[in-house]
Amino acid sequence: MEDVILVVNCGSSSLKVALFSPRLQHLAGALAERLGQPDAKARAGVDKVHVPLPKNANHEDALAALIRHFEEQRLLTRQPLAIGHRVVHGGEAFRAPALIDAEVLEAIEDCTSLAPLHNPVNLTGIRATQALFPDVPQVAVFDTAFHQTLPSKAYLYGLPRRFYDDWGVRRYGFHGTSHSFMLTESARILNKPESETSIISAHLGNGCSITAIRNGKSVDTSMGLTPLEGLVMGTRSGDIDPGLFDFLRSRGIDGEALSDLLNNDSGLLGLSGSTNDMRTLIRQADQGDRRCADALAVFCFRLARYIGAMMASLDSLDALVFTGGIGENSDRVRKDTLAPLGLLGFSLDSGANEKHGRDSKHHIEHSNSRFPVLVVATNEEAVIASAALAQSC
Ligand code: ADP
Repeated sequence: MEDVILVVNCGSSSLKVALFSPRLQHLAGALAERLGQPDAKARAGVDKVHVPLPKNANHEDALAALIRHFEEQRLLTRQPLAIGHRVVHGGEAFRAPALIDAEVLEAIEDCTSLAPLHNPVNLTGIRATQALFPDVPQVAVFDTAFHQTLPSKAYLYGLPRRFYDDWGVRRYGFHGTSHSFMLTESARILNKPESETSIISAHLGNGCSITAIRNGKSVDTSMGLTPLEGLVMGTRSGDIDPGLFDFLRSRGIDGEALSDLLNNDSGLLGLSGSTNDMRTLIRQADQGDRRCADALAVFCFRLARYIGAMMASLDSLDALVFTGGIGENSDRVRKDTLAPLGLLGFSLDSGANEKHGRDSKHHIEHSNSRFPVLVVATNEEAVIASAALAQSC
């Protein structure tokens, strides 16, 4: 059995693990959900085989059960070569993946105030994996690191300067592994060196963000201090008027309720009142549901505005790139988003746009489009595996 790299991605109530070969082939994956709840469950592999978990299983229980499952399936017959962890917030401390030691753990802990929902659970995953594999090198790969090249004009907010100086309040940006993968893939498709490639990368999944990359460096991005800012998302509001907070306070919505509202009950779900799944939303919009039609229109229009905004950070554009579950699969979202951007010179080939997904060509622009438009499947786990291998050698 060959060596493997283990990738661990801990969400607030979920755990994803994957095994890769040293040549970065995906060998196996597994997912545990509803952790901490009585109906915690886990499944593994393409067949979604049920993996038994103890009642109220936590992240440690789930990790142990999934590793045991891999061992029983003989997918893991010896210690992994390296382990890569997705860590959401690396603050200004991390511009690149880091081999985990006591100092790195402390620095991740220090970033907890910037990502209270994410970093503690990422640390739990790291500690649980360290307990299982104490001798294996472990590497943290940060969602924020790729955006550490943002210039200050893009990362400072119009707030008193001391908020940044004293508390680190600034735009950090997220989805960095996906946006950096888009850079690598676009450079490969366009046959250019990464350092000379400039793209706008739109990652549209449950969370959505868009990044301007100039000559291989992130120079602007839509998510901010937290992953709540910017585009309309599945359940997150994206940009809103901060004056809303006063208004909602006067209606008794404050503190945790406000955070819950903006993170979990807004976006496509809030607008439609029924779903955060883009496939369902489009189907219901086409069946005449007015709220779903509005939700789709708001989603696409916000994205179109941001594509325009990202142009302000570029002096040339090699491609606009769509990725994520929505970006890769929804020809409707791509079409509705680019429809109002004719003035900027974007034009889609409707056949190529609709067909995408059934062939492996990435280009969907019309021959008269000013800029190429690409659809590229993201692979954040492979980026993490590759970083883990590189850092641990
Ligand atoms: P996550 O951010 O959780 O990784 P994904 O990248 O898997 O999420 O994206 C999930 C979104 O992708 C959902 O809104 C889902 O409806 C959407 N999606 C997946 N397939 C399609 C499709 N064929 N058409 C439209 N939307 C799709």
